[in-house]
Amino acid sequence: MLTTIHPVTREDAVLLATQSPLSDLLAAATELRAQGKGSVITFSKKVFIPLTTLCRDYCSDCTFRKDPGQPGAHFMTPDEVLALAERGRQAGCKEALFSLGDQPEKIFLEAREFLRMQGYSRTLDYLAAMCEFVLDKTGLLSHANPGVMDIPVLARLKDSNASVGLMLENVSPRLMRDGLPHAKAPDKVPALCLRTIEEAVKLSIAFTTEIPMAAHPEPSLEDMLRTIAIARLILGPHMNIQAPPNLSYDDFPRLLEAGINDWGGISPVTRDFINPEAAWPQIDRLQSETESRGFTLRERLALYPEFVHLHEFLSPRVRDRITEVAGPDGFARDAAYAAGI
Ligand code: SF4
Repeated sequence: MLTTIHPVTREDAVLLATQSPLSDLLAAATELRAQGKGSVITFSKKVFIPLTTLCRDYCSDCTFRKDPGQPGAHFMTPDEVLALAERGRQAGCKEALFSLGDQPEKIFLEAREFLRMQGYSRTLDYLAAMCEFVLDKTGLLSHANPGVMDIPVLARLKDSNASVGLMLENVSPRLMRDGLPHAKAPDKVPALCLRTIEEAVKLSIAFTTEIPMAAHPEPSLEDMLRTIAIARLILGPHMNIQAPPNLSYDDFPRLLEAGINDWGGISPVTRDFINPEAAWPQIDRLQSETESRGFTLRERLALYPEFVHLHEFLSPRVRDRITEVAGPDGFARDAAYAAGI
């Protein structure tokens, strides 16, 4: 069985990727997931807060960033942040996912001026203040995903975030070469990203990382299944492996066969969102598709359940809030929100 070769070396992974039958990979990934995670698949109810679309980097595969003056270029004010977070809270969200461009103040006067008006000189300090603001005013637990960070920023984010993330598309500097996606993205130097992750580990911050290539041609489902299954073989039975369910694709439940244990954040607060009480039709479908395959779907917080009671990962204020909204098993406790806490 392939599971007996876990953990796999780099050479093993290349061999598996190119030569192993897909069915064997999926069987091995499924067995490893069962060892570490049983039959529980998780998701988080989140509201997505795009704090700013300005960014000093120009990743050629990015559809998020804007220059000042372009349609969609924006820095959210505290009032806008609070209004969006509050809509999420009313819809039952427990997580505020902050996404933003990297250090736009380094190249854009407009960004420096906005930050100055708010009383800050760096986007990262403004982000930390907005995470604290959202926690204080709404009780939503933040997950900030701001790119490269230094130790003081990480320490401040830990004070108000349940977990923090950084997109690490690749650990090879190859993508920085001329003509490749990160040629004009100084914050995508892999060594800087890896250092951020190492420093987060030193500070005991629950950390996530991702591999998005949004503007690239869609990989085939087989490519996705193969990649995720190999990730499970490399990372082992206990790692949390997430793949977003694209509910517009009928085949999305097949991702379960590749050893994922988490669907990630599901947001009801979209442009056409109207009624909070009718905001979760996608969760009904996720639940029926997941459970028809023999799994149990559970809601988690912005922190995987096994970290919820490990106090070194939580600041006192985050721990206080988590105590209110987590059950003894570390998953979300719905009753707290139903009572409007
Ligand atoms: S750093 Fe992030 S926001 Fe900026 S261009 Fe790259 S992917 Fe887009």
